[in-house]
Amino acid sequence: MADTRPRADIEHEVWKAGLAAGLGDARDLPLDAHLHTIRSPDADAMLEAYCALAVERGIAELAITDHVDFDPTMPAYGFASFADRERDVREAAARWADRGLAIRFGVEVTYERRAENEIRAWLARHPHDYVIGSVHISAASPYKASNVASFVAGRSLADIVAPYFDEVIGAARSGLFDTIGHLDFVKRYLVPHVLPADLAAAPELYEPVLEALVESGTALEVNVSGLRQLPRETYPAAPIVARYRALGGGHVTIGSDAHRTEWFSYGLSEAYRLVTAAGYDALAFRRGERRVAVPIRNPT
Ligand SMILES: [Zn+2]
Ligand SMILES: [Zn+2]
Repeated sequence: MADTRPRADIEHEVWKAGLAAGLGDARDLPLDAHLHTIRSPDADAMLEAYCALAVERGIAELAITDHVDFDPTMPAYGFASFADRERDVREAAARWADRGLAIRFGVEVTYERRAENEIRAWLARHPHDYVIGSVHISAASPYKASNVASFVAGRSLADIVAPYFDEVIGAARSGLFDTIGHLDFVKRYLVPHVLPADLAAAPELYEPVLEALVESGTALEVNVSGLRQLPRETYPAAPIVARYRALGGGHVTIGSDAHRTEWFSYGLSEAYRLVTAAGYDALAFRRGERRVAVPIRNPT
């Protein structure tokens, strides 16, 4: 029978079950490239708390990637100024440098094809160390809880994912981003109408998305948040990472996408294992200049 509790309640249980299974035990890893602080409207974590946990757990480098939206109906539109975000991160970086922690000034931009020129101009005027481009679910999206049941009814799986994947392809081909965040985040919004297993059974739907990544040189992010959300698997799952590599994809990165202090580093070891199993020995990252390779040390 379908679980009709609010999504947040179910996901809280998913998170706690993961803790019991050891997903909270990440230690001694080189990078978490996706984190949100109170400068994101949907996050309540203090940057200082992440830094303290990172030092305690041996996570050597963090990218702070608060949201920036270009659609006035989206929550991060005008939420935090570039100056405030940059000051927070640069000051924290200076405070924590002598404790062996590196902190980079990143951003997670919500990509929309119709706003691409505006995003391009803004990024040119607002340099960051590292830029994630992600497709999110707006109020008008067919995947919004109030819309999704009627949207999926009578549609093929290809037609169901097309609006999301078409935007992801646009984000990759725009060339604006170091990486694409949570490649198949749409999985979260399709449960219970379409399950992660349904998507896993149709890997061909990912081919044009992965080709766009490979051809544009955009990195694939393995986003851990799916492990504490309804899909109970990373965005994307292991077979998609393996397929990206088979297609010639040379650049992967890893992000916890934590929005709360207690989510910090949750599931990170799992993502490192997944990426290592796919054959990668380094993560793709940027520290303001060119792309760099961050070697994966001692995956556990
Ligand atoms: Zn996101
Ligand atoms: Zn995020």
